[in-house]
Amino acid sequence: MKAIQVKQVGGPEALELVELPVPHAKPNEAVVEVAASGVNFIDVYFREGRYKAAAMPFTLGQEGAGVVTAVGAEVNSVNVGDRVAWTMVHGSYAEFAAVPADKLVPIPKGVSERDAAATMLQGMTAHYLTHDTFHLKRGQTALVHAAAGGVGLLLVQMAHDIGARVIATVSTEEKAKLAREAGADEIILYTQQDFEVETKRLTGGKGVDVVYDSVGKTTFEKGLNVLRPRGLMALYGASSGPVAPFDLIQLSQKGSLYVTRPALGAYIATREELIERSDAVFEMIAMGKLKLRAEHIYPLKDARQAHIDLESRKTTGKLLLIP
Ligand code: NDP
Repeated sequence: MKAIQVKQVGGPEALELVELPVPHAKPNEAVVEVAASGVNFIDVYFREGRYKAAAMPFTLGQEGAGVVTAVGAEVNSVNVGDRVAWTMVHGSYAEFAAVPADKLVPIPKGVSERDAAATMLQGMTAHYLTHDTFHLKRGQTALVHAAAGGVGLLLVQMAHDIGARVIATVSTEEKAKLAREAGADEIILYTQQDFEVETKRLTGGKGVDVVYDSVGKTTFEKGLNVLRPRGLMALYGASSGPVAPFDLIQLSQKGSLYVTRPALGAYIATREELIERSDAVFEMIAMGKLKLRAEHIYPLKDARQAHIDLESRKTTGKLLLIP
C-alpha cells in the first residue's frame, strides 16, 4: 500500500511517499481502508519534530475515515464492512491504517466518509471549546482568531448557533467573507487593523467573555487585553509559533483572568466521551447545522503540497488527502 512517512523530521520535503505492506490487525485493532485522511496543523508539528513521534520512521496523520477490512481477535465493537472514523492515532496518511478499536466511532447514515474525516479532529475541538472549556451562552461575546481556518470556521458556526456574538479575526477579505457566511457578527482583518483596539471598540470597552486563540505567538498578549474581568483565554494552538513565557501576575493585573491550554485528548479521554462528542458533531452535520468546507482536496501523493499550502496561510476550512 502507499503511505506518507517521515524518516527525518523537517520541512514539507520530509514527507515521503513510500510502499509498505498492508498492516495486520493486532488483537485490539481493526484495519481500515482509508477513504479520506484529514490534514491538521498538528501534523506540521509532528513533521517538524516540535511534537515527538514514538518511533521513526512513522506514517503521519491523526484523522481518517473509511471501511473496516479486518478485525483483531479481541475486537467485538466493529465488524468488517462498518463505516468508521477516528482521530488521535498516528498513521492515517495511507491507503490502510491499523487503529485500536476503542478509538473508532461509527459513521451514522447521512454523513459521508469525507465529512467524517473532515470533522473528527477539528469538529470535536470546536465542540469542546464552546461546550466545555468555556461553556458559551447566548448573549455572550467570543473572539475567534483565524476564523476562516479549519477549526475556526467550525468554532464560528457553533458559537453562532449557541446565540453568542462572534468577533472574528482573519488575514484577508476572502477569508472575511467565509467567516461572515459562517455566522461571524464582526470581522477584524488583523493583518491590517489592531485587533485589540477594534475589539475594545466593538465591545464598548467592556471586553469579550472568551478568546479562542489558535495563533499563539502573535496574538496571545493582546488577547489578554481584550478580555472582560474574569474572562477566559483558551489558547489551543500555536500556528504563528509558541507563546513566550509570561508572568502570572499579569492575570491579576488585567482583571483576574483565566488562561487554559487545552488539548482534544483530554476531552475525549474516555470511550463514553468520545462517542458522545462525535455523535453530537455528526448530528450537527446531519441536521445541516454545521457546514464543512472541505474544498482543499489532494491525492495522497501530494501531501507535501497540502502542508505547504496550510503553512503559508493559503487554505480555508478543511484539507483532505484521498488515497
Ligand atoms: P488552520 O486552518 O486554522 O490554519 C492555520 C491558520 O492560522 C492560517 O490559515 C492563518 O489564518 C492563521 N495563522 C496566523 N498566523 C499564522 C502563521 N504565522 N503561520 C501560519 N498560519 C497562521 O489550521 P487548523 O484548523 O488545522 O489548526 C488551527 C490551530 O488549532 C493550530 O494551531 C492547531 O495546532 C490547533 N489545534 C489545536 C487542537 C487542540 O485540541 N488544542 C486541536 C486542533 C487544532 P489567517 O490567514 O486568517 O491568519
